[in-house]
Amino acid sequence: MDVSAHIEAVYDDLRRRDPGEAEFHQAAQEVLHTMGPVLEAHPEYVEARIVERLCEPERQLMFRVPWVDDQGTVRVNRGFRVEFNSALGPYKGGLRFHPSVNLGIVKFLGFEQIFKNALTGMAIGGGKGGADFDPKGRSDGEVMRFCQAFMTELYRHLGEHTDVPAGDIGVGAREIGYLFGQYKRITNRYEAGVLTGKPVGWGGSHVRTEATGYGAVYFAQEMLATRGQHLDGRRVVISGSGNVAVYAAEKVHALGGLVVACSDSSGYVVDEDGLDLELLKEVKEVRRSRISAYAEARPAARFSDRGSVFDVPCDIALPCATQNELNQQDAVALVKNGVLAVAEGANMPCTPDAVEVFRDARILFGPGKAANAGGVATSALEMQQNAARDSWTFERTEDRLAAIMRQVHSQCRVTAATYGGDPDDYVFGANATGFLRVAEAMTAQGVV
Ligand code: GLU
Repeated sequence: MDVSAHIEAVYDDLRRRDPGEAEFHQAAQEVLHTMGPVLEAHPEYVEARIVERLCEPERQLMFRVPWVDDQGTVRVNRGFRVEFNSALGPYKGGLRFHPSVNLGIVKFLGFEQIFKNALTGMAIGGGKGGADFDPKGRSDGEVMRFCQAFMTELYRHLGEHTDVPAGDIGVGAREIGYLFGQYKRITNRYEAGVLTGKPVGWGGSHVRTEATGYGAVYFAQEMLATRGQHLDGRRVVISGSGNVAVYAAEKVHALGGLVVACSDSSGYVVDEDGLDLELLKEVKEVRRSRISAYAEARPAARFSDRGSVFDVPCDIALPCATQNELNQQDAVALVKNGVLAVAEGANMPCTPDAVEVFRDARILFGPGKAANAGGVATSALEMQQNAARDSWTFERTEDRLAAIMRQVHSQCRVTAATYGGDPDDYVFGANATGFLRVAEAMTAQGVV
């Protein structure tokens, strides 16, 4: 069979059946267009229609989430859970609460999660969910009632061996707490492993909060090491100022680098002395304010709402905010300013034409499926601890995370080389490694 015609047909079919899901099309295209060499070597996967089956979620849930705000007004949001693939384990992936959430966004995230989770080598399938609820400006009471309403529908689809959500944008420890409480109330079960990202005091894992950011920095470090470079003394620009960005910055500082800028949706701050992370956490996590409040509190820093944080010259860029935040123009500016490496802390933050710019300039580029896999990998470690009713130390957990990230990095290079590609092509390496693990399991499990 003509492999490229097969891939093209799957992609055309996907666009025809799911029009209007631009982000899902983009994520699928990004994987499918790299699959040629793998499918050439494995005609049995073409025969078994693995690519087609991978593009079709096993189950998609959409549901009404009615709740009452502090003024007594009834509100209605839309909830989602896409259970994409369970070949390697229970569906695993976060919940995103953001006004932009729709089925196409959840499908793109769920699709990415299949490959990312497979790449970690842990026994977790792929899924994602969320709601078009905006937690910004909502009281704790409103967030609690929303989470309770959301879980009142979702609980019936979850279980520690079935589907295990966690956090993503807009869902942190507070939301996980409320979701868990409602799950426990409805089911009358203290099933610790049904959600990950729980606080450490009652079933959470050490390092889970830090894991995505730390992992992205470990990945960047591994990429730099292949060229005899390191983070020490390097200027780093990070987009975003949420959980991933803050802990990426913390690890960069611990390894001797200097984070000179970060951002939120209102603009960015430049702080040539290196970001004050305690202040950043206080502004974003405690006060839940705009990033300009950071510059107001720190005279050495400046705030800008013009241009992009990626205009700030740096050696390493870590996009840690959201999808499609780093475009071609940003990539050109980064290359012009001499960037050495880009590692995606967020999911699909670089547009395809930006990735093309990095590839042409031979910049080290770590795609999110590999570079941000530390978060979900540590969720899998949390599941292990829950299953054993055990709790590991911070050090032990961080050692596991670091080892997983090293393994993810080397596996990308080995797979790329095995299929005749450039070992620096982490995009191909990540897609192919994830695909091969899932395809092998799906084939062994028959047509299900
Ligand atoms: N939302 C995170 C991700 O994009 C973590 C998911 C999880 O821990 O299950 O990978």
